[in-house]
Amino acid sequence: MSRCQSRWNRATSGRRANVTPWKGDVVETLSPALDRLFGLRLRHGLAVGGMTYGDAKLRALCGLDELLLEESDGVPAALVTRLLANVITSIGAVAPIDPTHIRQLTIGDRERLLLGLYAGTFGAHVDTLIACDACHAVTEVPLDLIEALGDVREPSASEGVFTLDSKTIRFRVLTGADQERAAAATLENPDAGAATLLGACLNDVTATDAPGRLQSALEDALHAADPDADSEVVVPCATCGGMMRGVLDGFALLRDTLRPGPSVLEDVDRLAAAYHWTETAILSLPTERRRRYIALLDRRAAA
Ligand SMILES: [Zn+2]
Repeated sequence: MSRCQSRWNRATSGRRANVTPWKGDVVETLSPALDRLFGLRLRHGLAVGGMTYGDAKLRALCGLDELLLEESDGVPAALVTRLLANVITSIGAVAPIDPTHIRQLTIGDRERLLLGLYAGTFGAHVDTLIACDACHAVTEVPLDLIEALGDVREPSASEGVFTLDSKTIRFRVLTGADQERAAAATLENPDAGAATLLGACLNDVTATDAPGRLQSALEDALHAADPDADSEVVVPCATCGGMMRGVLDGFALLRDTLRPGPSVLEDVDRLAAAYHWTETAILSLPTERRRRYIALLDRRAAA
């Protein structure tokens, strides 16, 4: 399976990447942006009214977002849309942001926002586990997400061209709407994702006599045009010396970090009993700060 095929499969199936967070104690990790909004530059941006905006402003995760993840059973792409619409307060001059805007964003920009959301909520440092394909050893690899995201100096084009058998193929970068459509279609038919992928071609490609080669060339072109959709981590394996490759998956990182803890409703129960705050007030606390209050209650109970 090529790198790009794995990207598309991951985008449509929501299957977990092989980079998973180390199950460390995140309670003690102080977030650098607990209350403040934090900014992130998009690579393709949001086009509205003839303008394209690239500067997104987000807030850190709070209990309301966690409840959304706990209580919704939609496909991951649809959950990502709802989650990002919750936490993004503006993109350039566009505010408020709703799910329609988030569906317009490229898969790579959505991935940047998820990794940025993780960094803004839990801090940029994440200890990940990567399995070596050659010797199957699992190694802990520390990563700085802000460094991994890199800087975007110039907006990237949302359309491109490549040549296949001397025919010029025009394509557009895939969006969250494509991702949602493909994810829903693959629930019915596992092969439906490929049809959505070919929908990125702007030429009439139905007459091509090499659909497999076209798909492969298109995946390569999409990877080059939207590299954040497939942020790779490449590090040497300490056991066999081969290169280990992992794909950063922002949604999996967030879910795997939130999941080992108690349900957010258990936190509401404990904090309401201790401080008599309302459910709304507790669910509106940034996740990191709520966890610090819970740690205080734990310490008080242990004293
Ligand atoms: Zn190895």
